Amino acid sequence: MLYKLKSMMNTRLGFLLLLVFLIWIKTVIVYYTDFSLGLTDPFQHFIAIINPIGFAIVLFSLSLFINKAKPSYITMLAFYLILNLLLYANILYFREFTNFIPFTTMTGVSTVSKGLGASTLAVMEPRDLLYLLDFVLLVILFSIKQLRIDPRPFNKLNAVATTLAGAAFFSLNMMLAESNRPQLLGHTFDQTYVVKYLGIPTFTIYDAIQTAHSDQVKSTANGTDIDPDLKYVHDHYAKPNPKYFGIAKKKNIIIIHLESFHQFLLNMKINDQEVTPFLNSLYNSNETLSYDNFYNQVGSGKTIDAETMLETGLFGLPTGNYFNHQGTTNTAQAAPAILNQDQGYTSAVFHGNVGSFYSRDTVYKNLGYDYFFDQQYFDAAEKNTMTFGLKDKLMLSESAKYLEQLQQPFYAKFITVTNHYSFDLPDYDSDGFVTSDTPNQTVNKYFETAHYLDSALEEFFNYLKQSGLYNNSMIVLYGDHYGLTPDQTPYAGSLLGYDQNNWSDFDDAQMQKVPFMIHMKGLKGGISHKYGGEIDVLTTLLHLAGINTQNYLQVGTDLLSDQHNQIVPFRNGNFITPKYTVIKNKDKVYLNKTGEEIDLALNPELKNKISKWNQQVKAKFKVSDKINRLNLLRFYTPAGFKPVDPSQYSYQNQIERLDKIRNDLGNSSTSLYSKNDDKSTTSMYKTDAPELKDNRDAIDNLHSVENQ
Ligand code: MN
Repeated sequence: MLYKLKSMMNTRLGFLLLLVFLIWIKTVIVYYTDFSLGLTDPFQHFIAIINPIGFAIVLFSLSLFINKAKPSYITMLAFYLILNLLLYANILYFREFTNFIPFTTMTGVSTVSKGLGASTLAVMEPRDLLYLLDFVLLVILFSIKQLRIDPRPFNKLNAVATTLAGAAFFSLNMMLAESNRPQLLGHTFDQTYVVKYLGIPTFTIYDAIQTAHSDQVKSTANGTDIDPDLKYVHDHYAKPNPKYFGIAKKKNIIIIHLESFHQFLLNMKINDQEVTPFLNSLYNSNETLSYDNFYNQVGSGKTIDAETMLETGLFGLPTGNYFNHQGTTNTAQAAPAILNQDQGYTSAVFHGNVGSFYSRDTVYKNLGYDYFFDQQYFDAAEKNTMTFGLKDKLMLSESAKYLEQLQQPFYAKFITVTNHYSFDLPDYDSDGFVTSDTPNQTVNKYFETAHYLDSALEEFFNYLKQSGLYNNSMIVLYGDHYGLTPDQTPYAGSLLGYDQNNWSDFDDAQMQKVPFMIHMKGLKGGISHKYGGEIDVLTTLLHLAGINTQNYLQVGTDLLSDQHNQIVPFRNGNFITPKYTVIKNKDKVYLNKTGEEIDLALNPELKNKISKWNQQVKAKFKVSDKINRLNLLRFYTPAGFKPVDPSQYSYQNQIERLDKIRNDLGNSSTSLYSKNDDKSTTSMYKTDAPELKDNRDAIDNLHSVENQ
């Protein structure tokens, strides 16, 4: 048996199979130790385990077409080495960026590739030496002559057969992947998916093709391509409401990105406790402009789609997300740059995840963000983080020391993460809130993280008030997208009085409502029933800040304008008007007031209206998508705007830079720190986060309670 195996390995095909076996085992080990592929069901594990095989056979088999033995073996080993290098490079990249190497990084085109080198070495680990074991094994086997080069030429037909066998295996892999994840390659939003279903080399090739295609598409565009889009935006301009225009001029603008936050959480009670008592008080305050018919309009890019709409006034992409696919190279005319150039704002993002996630650290430069405080600026010890980064209470409280150094007015965005799937809040972070006991655990846990986020925001607002920032800031809160999926929402709906057994597409559409609140001291607020969505936010905010938006290519309209367009379009083609909810792909129309389905056959007039609205919705997406796909803003600079030069932005040594600016400005420094007589305000920040030293007793007590 052993002899048979040995004699087989000493044929060319046998050697090929040995190499396939080695790279296969190694890749699977890497999948389970170095990568986190998010494999859920057994079928996904199976696909991941087999996916390195097909490609390796095809690649190695190419060497069988070389007649002479030695060059053939060398070629095969060279391919083997390439696959190993690709794998190891991805291991290192993944440790740093929790993602796979984009093709543009590999070729050095993207700015990300600069500054890699040193940090890459830092993530190498001693155990990585184990990944050399196969090479050691091969050298030993050859030197003790257990492995020999087979001098016989390889039959061409057999070579073809081997390649075909590999290709067949790969096709089978593709089919299985497609059955588990339809439209895997058509609708990529997470590159991990391509790796988990088709493997690393396939991912690299796929990404290279995508990049080449996207570059090619852009290269065909020219300056006049933007003319129809300029006309569209001009024709759909909604002029600002004079009652609100400029009321927040030169005020700080603080954006709170409420992760996965449904509107229905507001004013909701579970076991007689409010889920989000603080946000409820904001929502119902007469100094808050609140909306109760405001919808998220994200597609597969979710969080990034929400950010893209907020910052650029254009939609997320039809597939994938703008940040990863266009944002690193496209020209943008975005909120931070507009506010800076028009009104002298300083801008910053605070986020508890790593900066490279979704290429934020590159895209933010193109948007004109002056500062980006990502995970490395916070204490990201394991107890402080959950899957998507630092817990909100810690991120917000630790941000104070950076926020107080920003020159005012500032535009500061806080991206929260704790209320992110899978909503696994540790017991010690809960303040005694007793959640629901629906049969769906995810739903029950969702209320706990939402409650935590609410408490984190209360602490943050208390600090704003204590420090005085509150008095000259406009605070804007929005839910980025749904948190519960359509199969989970009915369980939440049952707590809200919906009939879970008669759940309809209308109910699903209603569940896409998210909060939108503008809070400012002295603001004449109230709950508005106007219909709108995330695409309308940027224009609304700029008008409040007293900035004319007429020359910018933003496709939303000011929610406060009398001319605001109340048709709310969704990425899947559905749309909602103040009266109707239109589920396009199922040809269903519901009356908003009652939730009843309308038979269009009996109402031809409405049918006509709907098809007209449908054209409008399509036109809106078409304009936005074309601008992004062809990178058209590079051809158009609005009057008074200077294109952003990303090379002028850096997120290194930010603290030193803030100090230097403060010192250079001397008495004219407008930072909170300077206004507070050069004293820090961080002691004004009170948090009950048990992870912090001052609150350790709480955490220790909780542990001992748990242990009893
Ligand atoms: Mn999100």
